[in-house]
Parts: sequence; structure tokens; C-alpha cells
Amino acid sequence: MRSLACSLMLLGPFMLAAQQKAHQHGVASATLVIDPQGVEWQMDMPADQLFGFEHAPSTAQQQAIQQSQLEKIQPQRWLVWPDEAKCELKTATLALDDADSHHHDYVSSASWQCADISSINQLEITLFQLTMGLEQLHVQYITPSGQGSRTLTPQEQRLAF
Ligand SMILES: [Zn+2]
Repeated sequence: MRSLACSLMLLGPFMLAAQQKAHQHGVASATLVIDPQGVEWQMDMPADQLFGFEHAPSTAQQQAIQQSQLEKIQPQRWLVWPDEAKCELKTATLALDDADSHHHDYVSSASWQCADISSINQLEITLFQLTMGLEQLHVQYITPSGQGSRTLTPQEQRLAF
């Protein structure tokens, strides 16, 4: 049995590639590791697609938008696992990752423990309608049966393995 740490190491070059990718509005990138011991998710997204602006909130209205979006964009709300996998959320964070004077990125990280990993043959990602104009989500994944990558869009939100 391959350990999660080992899978993460295999995914290392992917993660590096994701980090080196230029900040691009409308585009988010994620890595997904499905392992016998659980599921790990990490995603980078421009703040512009999270709030509709990238600077620190400067009005009460922008503060309210930021607050409500940070609450809404919680991965357990838009990462939908098959019921039969019986996945239970273990950790979830959404935090400012990288900010220069013009561009801010947020990172969403989450992990689940699933009673039946083998029944995870697809994943529904209903993130797009919660964002401010996210157009593409690049996902690099590694599962017990292999690895691959897909680009999801508002028209194609299902990731099948
Ligand atoms: Zn930007």
C-alpha cells in the first residue's frame, strides 16, 4: 500500500508546476490526491474570482462581500463525493497565500477521510457558480489507479477517474 506521503512526493513536480504558473484571472489550479488513507485537496485561486476585486476591501460593502465569500467558498460546499464513499471532512482552510501590490492569490486546502475510497470514481465540483467569474479549473490528480489532469469549466464540472 502506498502511503499518502509517498503520493504527495509523486505529486511534488505537479505542485511545483502549479506554483510557478502565472497568476491568471479567471483560472484556478488544484491538486487532488486520493489515497487509501484519505483525500487531500489544494487549490490556488486569484482573489479577483473570489471577491470580484483584488485589493484589500476599502468600503463596508467590499468587506461584507469578502466576509460572505470566505464563508461560502468552503470546499465541503462544492466538492461533492459519491455518497457511497462516505467521506467526512477532516480539515479545511481558505487563506491568503501570496500578495504583491496588484495580485492576490487564495489557497483552499482540505482533507477528507472516506470509508470506501474504492467507490470514488468521480467527483462533482460545483464551485463555478459561487465565484466571481471563474472560467477554468485545472486539476492534477493522483488516485490509487493512476494520475492525470483535467480542465473543468462551468459547463463541465465533473471529474471522472
Ligand atoms: Zn490578479
